[in-house]
Amino acid sequence: MTEEGGRPEREMHDAVCAKCGKPCKVPFKPTEGRPVYCRDCFKPRSRF
Ligand SMILES: [Zn+2]
Repeated sequence: MTEEGGRPEREMHDAVCAKCGKPCKVPFKPTEGRPVYCRDCFKPRSRF
């Protein structure tokens, strides 16, 4: 196991941002039909 800094590493999944179309990685499994946003596009205060 690789444990650096005492943080458990999460499994990252490849996804494509639904807004800018850039490839990104998300800590959850992308669900079909659900848009995935990269860190730049995913903002907590953005209106849906
Ligand atoms: Zn994006």
